[in-house]
Amino acid sequence: MSALDNARRSAAEFLRKTTGDDRPEWRPTFLGDSPEGANAIGPVCTDEDHVESEDPSAFECCPEPIIAVEPALVDYLVELLNADREAGSS
Ligand SMILES: [Zn+2]
Repeated sequence: MSALDNARRSAAEFLRKTTGDDRPEWRPTFLGDSPEGANAIGPVCTDEDHVESEDPSAFECCPEPIIAVEPALVDYLVELLNADREAGSS
């Protein structure tokens, strides 16, 4: 069992409690005003009234955790997490 496997399992337990999904899909989002672009990441919101393509901000409907991230790293972390989500779902 690799360190990544162990870390993935711990994260999955946490994410199951907060989002109801062991391996949620991740998205860029916003915490407050951020003119330089998305400054946070979070699980994709499943609330049907929240259309993320129209407003990607994080609201009360959105699953936790919303994690503050340096804007330059947002896309990279979202891509990494979503790639690992597929790799870990075997
Ligand atoms: Zn939402």
